[in-house]
This record gives sequence, C-alpha cells and structure tokens, in this order.
Amino acid sequence: MRRTYQYRLYPTTTQATTLTQWLTTCRILYNNGLAERKNAWETHKKSVTYNEQANQMKDAKKTNQFLKTVHSQVLQDTLRRLDKTFTNFFRRIKKGEKAGYPRFKGKYRYDSFTYPQSGFAINYKKKKLRLSKIGSINIKLHRPIPSERVIKTFTITRDVDHWYACFSVELPDPALQTHQRALQKAIGVDVGLKSLLTFNNGETIVNPRWLRHSEKKVAKEQRRKDRKQNGSYNRYKQTKKVAQVHRKVRNQRKDFHHKLSRQLVDNYDLIVYENLQITNMVKNHVVAKSISDAGWGQLMHFTEYKAEEAGTVVEYVSAYNTTQLCSNCGKLVPKTLATRIHRCPYCGLMLARDHNSAITILSRSKYYVTSRSSASSGQGLPVEPV
Ligand SMILES: [Zn+2]
Repeated sequence: MRRTYQYRLYPTTTQATTLTQWLTTCRILYNNGLAERKNAWETHKKSVTYNEQANQMKDAKKTNQFLKTVHSQVLQDTLRRLDKTFTNFFRRIKKGEKAGYPRFKGKYRYDSFTYPQSGFAINYKKKKLRLSKIGSINIKLHRPIPSERVIKTFTITRDVDHWYACFSVELPDPALQTHQRALQKAIGVDVGLKSLLTFNNGETIVNPRWLRHSEKKVAKEQRRKDRKQNGSYNRYKQTKKVAQVHRKVRNQRKDFHHKLSRQLVDNYDLIVYENLQITNMVKNHVVAKSISDAGWGQLMHFTEYKAEEAGTVVEYVSAYNTTQLCSNCGKLVPKTLATRIHRCPYCGLMLARDHNSAITILSRSKYYVTSRSSASSGQGLPVEPV
C-alpha cells in the first residue's frame, strides 16, 4: 500500500531560485527528449529508448552547464517520465483508444521533479530537509513520517509560489480482517451538488459557508483579471493572484474532505458510494464546474485510503437509476433535476430526493445484505454544524 506524505517547504530566496532553475532544466530536458523521439520517428521510423537517452547525459553535461548543476538521478527521472508518457501513449493506441501524442511542456506546466532513491535526508531535530546539490531547506513537519516506513520516492512540487516535499512511502498492507469482522454499522452515501452528501438516515452535509465564500472570491478575482489588458504586467500579477486564491480554496476543500472522510471511517464499518463516472459527468459542461468544485472524487479517494488502514469496507454500487427508483417499493418514479422531493404514487413514500437515493444506494450493497446493519436506526454521523 502506497501513501504520500506532503510537507510545506520554506526555501530561502536563493534556494527558491535554484529550485525554479532545476524545474526549468528538467522541463527543457523533457522537451528536448520529446523532440528527439519525435524526429527519430518522423525521419527514420525509429523509436528511441530510455536507455539511449540516459546514455547521452554524460556527453550532454560536458557542454550544458545547467545539466551539471542538477542531481543526476533527478535528470534520469525526468527522462523516465517522458518514457512513461510514451509507453502510455502506445498502450492506448494498441488498445484502439483515442490518444493524444505526448506534448511539449509549457513554462507553467512543469511543476515537479523527483529524487527516485537518494539525495535527500530529513533532520527532525533541526526541521530541515537536506537536498543533494541544493542544501538544507526549512521544512514544516506537521506530522511525523514513522521511521519504519520506507520512503520509496521523493518529489519536490511547486504550487504557484509555494513549495512542497512529497514522500511516497510503502506501508504494510493492513491485515484482511474485513471478512471475519461483522459489518455492524453501514451507511449509504449520495453525493450531490445541492448537498455535498446525503446519508441513508436523512442527514446531509452541505458545503460549508467559508468554502462557498472562498469560491465567490475566486470568481471575483477572476473577473478582475478579465478586465486587465492582455499581456500587461497587471494582468500577469492578477493571474498569479487568481492562482493563489484557487490554491487556498483547493487546500480548504482538501482539509474539509480529510475531516469528513475521517468521520465516516471512524464511525462506520461499511461505507457505500455510488459508482459515478465522474470524468464523463465533467464533460457535461453545464454541471462540470460545480462537480469539479464539489470534488467528489477526492472525497471518495480519501475515504478509500483511510478505510484501508482501518479495515473499513468502502463499496461502490451501480448508480443506475438511484434517483428514479423508490427505495421502499422499487418502482420507477421519474423525476427531473428540479424535482427535489420523492413522492411515490405506488406506496406513498415521501422523502427528500437525495435521501431516497442514499437508501437505494445502501440497499445495493452486497455486504450490507448479509450484515444486517443497524445504520438506518443508528445515531448517524456526528457532524458539527457548519
Ligand atoms: Zn414506492
């Protein structure tokens, strides 16, 4: 089981310049490597391998001073990324899928580099991260990386003007006790736009007010940017501002999703979601923005990995007609997007639309059927009012 631990870095101005320079060097290496592969294919119908490109590094370093300043494993990893992009591209072509040819990376489209195995060390006492060829950078270790956890790879990322250290660690798989354990408490979860979550016990979680406020702020800064003249310095400054507000909202939402998923995992043995094709839904432009904002995928992902550690089961059931069917008698009760109440003409059930769906979602669980959960009569999820 892989987990990533992310920490904020506080480089000095000089260090930040070096980090930015490394990103530029890696990006140019990536683009040059891509150009080489492209040319070789177009002129000789020949494909270039990772090894061939990595072997050129030694000579390239003799003439390119920038390459010399970057840790050699970081450069190798850049070429590996390129190689992976091509592998994925060819795999999709082989499968007959539509695949875009690998693209050159623009100035703001290359935001990370990786030390695959070595070249970094953490000093817990001094709160420093030592990087080979860069030096010691201040790091905020807001939570520990337990020593027995082996760090697999280490990546430095840039988010506008913030820097982060991301450690990917390999954890032992949690013992599979799930099937021996009775799934005492189960919950069905409907994700939506009006309420972020609705549970089968009727409780709902709306996006908190501060998050909505931040979202409004993004829109405001965006409008400001649109008023600035194209190519002007003021526009550049405002673009940065927009990116910063975006980052803030993203981090707030992430934090909120961490807390929500923690509550779910701590309170339930079985969590049942709908299996939504979120990427397909995002293609529907009318709702796309709100769906991306709600970040269902992120919440589900957080729930999954926390559950994995706790031995909780997260199950995805078919999303087919969950809104349209009556959760009591199973008959089809058609609704438009505007119909907020489920009124069943066959059995008389009347519930909030999303509440009805959440019950149907839970009833589709294969674990729930055998576990005789007490969720609908349980105390529900303790949620602080927001
Ligand atoms: Zn009914």
